[in-house]
Amino acid sequence: MLDKIVIANRGEIALRVLRACRELGIKTVAVHSTADNNLKHVLLADETVCIGPPQSTQSYLDMPAIIAAAEVTDAIAIHPGYGFLSENADFAERVEESGFVFVGPKAETIRIMGDKVAAIRAMKAAGVPCVPGSDGPLGSDSAENLRIARGIGYPVIIKASGGGGGRGMRVVHTEASLVSAINITKAEAQAAFGNDAVYMEKYLEHPRHIEFQVLADGKGNAIHLGERDCSMQRRHQKVLEEAPAPGITDEQRQFMGERCVQACVDLGYTSAGTFEFLYENGEFYFIEMNTRVQVEHPVTEMVTGIDIVKAQLRIAAGEPLAYKQEDVTWRGHAIECRINAEDPKTFMPSPGTITLWHAPGGPGIRVDSHLYSGYQVPPYYDSLIAKLIAHGEDRNSAIGRMTTALNEMVIEGIRSNIALHQEICNHSAFKAGGTDIHYLENRLGL
Ligand code: ADP
Repeated sequence: MLDKIVIANRGEIALRVLRACRELGIKTVAVHSTADNNLKHVLLADETVCIGPPQSTQSYLDMPAIIAAAEVTDAIAIHPGYGFLSENADFAERVEESGFVFVGPKAETIRIMGDKVAAIRAMKAAGVPCVPGSDGPLGSDSAENLRIARGIGYPVIIKASGGGGGRGMRVVHTEASLVSAINITKAEAQAAFGNDAVYMEKYLEHPRHIEFQVLADGKGNAIHLGERDCSMQRRHQKVLEEAPAPGITDEQRQFMGERCVQACVDLGYTSAGTFEFLYENGEFYFIEMNTRVQVEHPVTEMVTGIDIVKAQLRIAAGEPLAYKQEDVTWRGHAIECRINAEDPKTFMPSPGTITLWHAPGGPGIRVDSHLYSGYQVPPYYDSLIAKLIAHGEDRNSAIGRMTTALNEMVIEGIRSNIALHQEICNHSAFKAGGTDIHYLENRLGL
């Protein structure tokens, strides 16, 4: 097993990784900014290294500082969590070149999957269904682009190949606006991602977002852990996730899971990963792959009983995958609410001191959070302060437990979006299941 690892992240995911390390007997090094001296995992870690000022560009995104922290503490490996440097192929490469283990896939895999055009090509080759679209990046011939759009049928969406975080996309409803939309998206993509390649896809009007979790050891063993429904979104950001996805049959799960597993084998994929799809009229369409652990991984852990972070660490230590596909079974239903430090109506961030924190409990309840009474939520980072996860024998029971837990949870001193989650869990369309990616924004009147 790995002797000691650097946790190159903050907040709830850093604490989640620390807990997995403790269970596996791995020593931990917490690297943190000056704004994060009092983060829970920093207080709990075996060693800590301050790597810079609050601005993430000078701390959590500072590659040499993180690698230097691994050097001075004699660590073996670096776990990047999610966000920050977790999908940065250059970072993975530098970590490995410096003689450390990067807990994640190989740099070249991250590079391919981070380029959406390359990712779609790789997926098509593995027999994974993709959104109908242009074959590769769009060229500068307007007549040809108009022909491609006519072939796909309007509306279409122009997407930046290097895009991420819901940015670099533009929907086009009519032929008249196609050429200018391509030019604007190209210019924006160049400015935001340093890469002006854009491609075209059919714009699906009422899809759900359904994604498949995989684990692979890079030695030819790969499994899927089923799917999650992450359609409850605001501005392309997930708000609430669940597993399994309402209405998806065992046959669909098996069919799509097998395609994802095949893609992992073809790519020589290593570690945990997620294949994201849009789902409309009974069909799945690949949109992108995330080559890291995801915020919503706990719902899959709750229904499968498999610890995804421990699996990542074991794979990074060179162990073969401990599970075969037939070992994976799904029990009950799990829902996760992302609790953010923000106003439930205006969504304005609400940093500040937590004067009182009370975590809910009871059967089937899990709280992944770095909060404690007296903790100060800094204004510099993502507003996620807790993940509340409820598991039940079926979806209704999970919703019932979630509702009870949301009512029990107390966060005083700052504002949070607990009220928004209470409203979602109480709404008939959510209770029925299977709402599309526009449901929340329509309901909020956005
Ligand atoms: P990012 O890397 O920025 O997250 P994705 O390709 O994963 O970009 O897309 C993010 C979101 O944008 C999806 O969850 C969906 O809401 C919307 N989207 C992307 N592609 C399409 C499409 N072809 N049709 C409709 N919506 C889309």
